[in-house]
Amino acid sequence: MADLKLEKYIAISGILKCKTGLRIGGSKEDIEIGGLDNPILRDPVDKMPYIPGSSLKGKLRAVLEYKHDRVGWSIDRNSGEPRQDKNNGQPCGCGQLLNICPVCTIFGPHKNTRHKLGPTRIIVRDAIITDKSREELEKLAPEGLQYAEVKSENTINRATNVAGDPRQMERVPKNTEFDLNISLRVFRNDDSETMVKYIQEALTLMQKDYLGGSGTRGYGWVEIRNLEIKDC
Ligand SMILES: [Zn+2]
Repeated sequence: MADLKLEKYIAISGILKCKTGLRIGGSKEDIEIGGLDNPILRDPVDKMPYIPGSSLKGKLRAVLEYKHDRVGWSIDRNSGEPRQDKNNGQPCGCGQLLNICPVCTIFGPHKNTRHKLGPTRIIVRDAIITDKSREELEKLAPEGLQYAEVKSENTINRATNVAGDPRQMERVPKNTEFDLNISLRVFRNDDSETMVKYIQEALTLMQKDYLGGSGTRGYGWVEIRNLEIKDC
C-alpha cells in the first residue's frame, strides 16, 4: 500500500485562454422557453461560462492515455494480472505504479477498487472566468447574448448539395480566459517530480488537441499561459 503520510501539495496554476470558440455543453433543463437548443455550461448564479474540473481532468487524462498507450488496460479477473483490451475504449484501470503507468496514480485507476496506489493525487478545480474576460463578455449583454456567441451550423445533403436546417450552437468566444488551478497531493514516497512532469506533458498535449466539443471542427483550441508550479 502507498505510504499515506501527506507531505505537501503542489499548486499548478495558469491562465487557460481560448484561441477558438469553446463549447462545453450545459443542461437543457437550464434553458428558458425560446432559448437555444445547445446552451453552454454556465454558473447558475452569475450566468458566466466556466470550465468544470471534470472536463479538464478527463481531457488531461485522455491525452496522456493515448500518448502512453494506456487505453483499455484493466486487471484480468482470473489471473489478477494487468491486460489491455484496446477495443473496449475504457480509461486505464491497470492500477500499476507510476513507473509503469503515468495515469493510474495521478488520476486514479478506472473501475479498479483493489489497487494499492492510495488516493487520486490530482485535484482539478473548476476553471472560473478571469475578471478581465468577465468584463469583456459583459459587453455582449446589450446585444442580447448571454456571455456567449451563437454559431449556426449546417449539414450539406450529399444527394442534393443543399444545406439542411441550421443548428444553433452556443460557444464561449475566442480570447476568453479562465483561471486554471490544479492541486497535486504528494505522499511520503511519491515521486512528485515525475508526477508534475506528466501533468505538464498532459497540458502540452491538450494544447495540441482540443478541449470540449467539436474540436475536429475548430472548436476548443486552448492555450495555457503563465504556468506556475509551487509547493504549498
Ligand atoms: Zn493505469
